[in-house]
Amino acid sequence: MSQTIKVRSPATLEQIAEVPVASRADVAHAVRRARDAQAAWQGTSFAERAALLYRLRDLLLDEQDQLADIVTAETGRPRAEAYGNELFYLCDAIGSWAKKSRRYLRPETIRPDFLLMKAKKVLSTYSPRGVIGIISPWNFPLTLTLGEAVPALMAGNGVVIKPSELTPLSARFGAAMAVKAGFPENLLQVVFGFGETAEAVIDHCDMIAFTGSIATGKRVMHRAAERLIPVSLELGGKDPMIVLKDADLERAAGACVWGALMNSGQACTSIERVYVEAPVYQPFVEKVLARVRAIRQGPSEDTVEIGSMTSEAQLKKIETQVNEAVVRGAKALTGGRRNPNLKGLYYEPTVLIDVDQSMSVMREETFGPVIPILKVQDAKEALKLANDSPYGLGGSIFSGNTSTARQIAAMMESGAVCINDSLINYIIPDAPMGGRKNSGFGFRHGADGIRKYCHQKTIVMDRLGLKEEFPWYPASEKKARQIRHLLRLLCRSGWRNKLRAFRALVAS
Ligand code: NAD
Repeated sequence: MSQTIKVRSPATLEQIAEVPVASRADVAHAVRRARDAQAAWQGTSFAERAALLYRLRDLLLDEQDQLADIVTAETGRPRAEAYGNELFYLCDAIGSWAKKSRRYLRPETIRPDFLLMKAKKVLSTYSPRGVIGIISPWNFPLTLTLGEAVPALMAGNGVVIKPSELTPLSARFGAAMAVKAGFPENLLQVVFGFGETAEAVIDHCDMIAFTGSIATGKRVMHRAAERLIPVSLELGGKDPMIVLKDADLERAAGACVWGALMNSGQACTSIERVYVEAPVYQPFVEKVLARVRAIRQGPSEDTVEIGSMTSEAQLKKIETQVNEAVVRGAKALTGGRRNPNLKGLYYEPTVLIDVDQSMSVMREETFGPVIPILKVQDAKEALKLANDSPYGLGGSIFSGNTSTARQIAAMMESGAVCINDSLINYIIPDAPMGGRKNSGFGFRHGADGIRKYCHQKTIVMDRLGLKEEFPWYPASEKKARQIRHLLRLLCRSGWRNKLRAFRALVAS
């Protein structure tokens, strides 16, 4: 009998569905079918692809309650978050890709700098890679599956998605909606499974867009190297927030609490550590604490801000980090434990003070509803500690002085920085989003977020139609002499040198 995945609700711990695990042969078959569908799809125009996307967006809006049911059931998140970020993101991203893909991928005319090459017309063009494999984590099961597929489809590719084994249902729903919207049968497919299924995706697709942990990202890159196929790796983060003494503390506290606790902190760009200048440390901590204490946690309802964690393994990791911090002297002003009143995977929203930079809660990705706050002497120390990390995904800075904030932003070692805001860069699909250091490489969003799904091809066209070109055979002493004089004429500095080279060229 073939293997299955029993999907359970992390909020109730009850089984909610069972899906079949795709074998290596199933994946090979799925990629073959996607390849066949892609052959016709690449001949469609951007306008035709965009029209299908708009229809998909309408359908998602029509079916938003079902969408929220599914996202909520398999992640444990409040319904409001399913609308407020998964659906919001998809509507936003679909509009942006439908409008901008054509511009991002139109042939680009390149004007050669060197005079001798001006006689050539040079174009840089983009064409689809074929079938893109998307391997996704569980924290945003629609955004990181269907959302990632949208630019790949707009670029003319087929797509095979391997969603997380913890949250396979949202991707299945997204693919079904795409077919209902009129996308060709088999162009976008979903295969369920664990690591082995994902490995088969790497073995058959033409490119891999991976989002997930650093450890798995390295394995993905290693396997893709065997076939020399490209990968984009969107990995973990440990995003710092810096609060300077001239910041609007009310706004900073609100942005901190939302930025750290949204989706129970299970966002790659969650605020994971906070550095606050000494003069405003105490009032900032008090404001954050008041807001966190007001948060309601529980099973999905519109009146609850925080739901359950999605992964049991992640919950254990959070417990280990917080317990270790407390043993080493940190204090949990609120939270610091599983929620004893709820049955599912609930960890209480937590504010930690008296932390230091060497604790794992300040160094390793937590991916949970924990806000560790550290007092610093000044902006310089804050920046030093913010950059003292193996990660480099995002970060945020709060200050009343935009110029100071811009200077710090320029020096922060991360792929994005929000000034007087948090997380928001992710939902601007026109802005490139990617990491540095252990947070991976390659971009989603912006021009690079779709060009990565394309072969880039240079086309050079002759304009003059001469019978002979200078470097062509036969070689001769005269030609060698002439090229030396010509190079001096064009490239030597100083007009006297150029004049001398010109005379020599005419005489040669
Ligand atoms: P994970 O690395 O455990 O799993 C991610 C995916 O990889 C899953 O679909 C899994 O089945 C698959 N996989 C497992 N073994 C594999 C193998 N050997 N080869 C190929 N694929 C394999 O990550 P997770 O626990 O699902 O997700 C949490 C991580 O995702 C966090 O580290 C988080 O920061 C990261 N994340 C990053 C971003 C970003 O944009 N940078 C966004 C969301 C999540």
